[in-house]
Amino acid sequence: MEMERHAKIPVGVLGATGMVGQRFIQLLENHPWFELVALAASERHQGRPYNEVTSWRLTESELPASVAALPVVACRPEALPGVKIVFSALPGDIAGEIEIEFARAGVAVFSNAKNHRMAADVPLLIPEVNADHIAAITQQQKQHGWSGFIITNANCATTPLVMALKPLQQAFGVNKMLVTTLQAISGAGYPGVPSYDILDNAIPYIGGEEEKVEIETRKMLGEWQEGHGFVDAPIAVSAHCNRIATREGHLACVSVGFERDATPEEVIAAWEQYIPASQQAQLPSAPEYALRYRTEHDRPQTLRDRDTGHGMTTTIGRLRRCPILSYKFVALAHNTIRGAAGGSILNAEWCVHKGLL
Ligand code: NAP
Repeated sequence: MEMERHAKIPVGVLGATGMVGQRFIQLLENHPWFELVALAASERHQGRPYNEVTSWRLTESELPASVAALPVVACRPEALPGVKIVFSALPGDIAGEIEIEFARAGVAVFSNAKNHRMAADVPLLIPEVNADHIAAITQQQKQHGWSGFIITNANCATTPLVMALKPLQQAFGVNKMLVTTLQAISGAGYPGVPSYDILDNAIPYIGGEEEKVEIETRKMLGEWQEGHGFVDAPIAVSAHCNRIATREGHLACVSVGFERDATPEEVIAAWEQYIPASQQAQLPSAPEYALRYRTEHDRPQTLRDRDTGHGMTTTIGRLRRCPILSYKFVALAHNTIRGAAGGSILNAEWCVHKGLL
């Protein structure tokens, strides 16, 4: 591809020691377009080598040797000179202002934090769902006088929903959705929910999560209208979000109402034949299939299916008629890969592909 003929783009990670930060580091190792050159975290770790301050939590791989000795720096633009992209894995209570500082300093920010997701000129992006929302960047830069920009990821529970819904919205029109999630512990960061509270348990409350699922879904399935802004999709969404004792992978049980009736075969075909524009771009982090429909009566399962497509595929199954709405089904995505770090990296690749970087 075009990018491979040029030097790699220098990138940094903000919040590099956390759950999502570690995923970024794992996924950026040997990335064909991006070179990870800077790691930032809180003040307590500044100036010390990354491997000394980080307790590596990922079980599938070791802490990459290429970043082990990198000094941890402050989350300020001047501490990451030359970096063109930052991937932000900062907590919501501090991410907002820090990300603005980077955008102002000319850096492209790809964020997992909630702060800017619903801003009127910030794309809440999944390339397979709303790739054209990056058009908002021009207005964002003009409005704020930034030479950089901010693009956000969806909440990790919203991600499998909108990926599964987009082809259905296109083919049949979607006007209602009711969803109940079963979400992994890693979604709460590290150490997250105390083990004594979550082992042998399910907790029917995740602060702010249901509201995020309800509003983010409408923004992402809505439209960017030039000169006007984002227009939400007219979908009534009701969410129940539950924390359960799985490590990674958010499962969602969904009932959906269509504007036009469809046969089960047509619904499955809408998923199987969905090839978004971003898929044709063959981005390095894109899975072979964004969506996979499984026919077994007991799939998707969190443990068995979360790693499909290197954690970037949303797996769907159990399509049935719904006696209240039109259909019901189950969808699953890996929360720290597709729902966080992998999703952000794919967003950055899409921007490179579209010439924004
Ligand atoms: P986490 O494990 O708690 O990590 C937080 C990171 O932020 C650490 O690197 C920490 O560095 C750094 N940090 C904390 N306070 C700081 C400060 N005052 N200044 C600079 N850095 C600071 O959290 P996480 O689960 O990775 O989540 C990160 C973000 O992604 C959150 O906004 C979260 O909502 C979002 N998100 C998470 C998931 C998921 O599945 N986990 C999915 C989607 C989105 P120190 O080690 O130095 O304290």
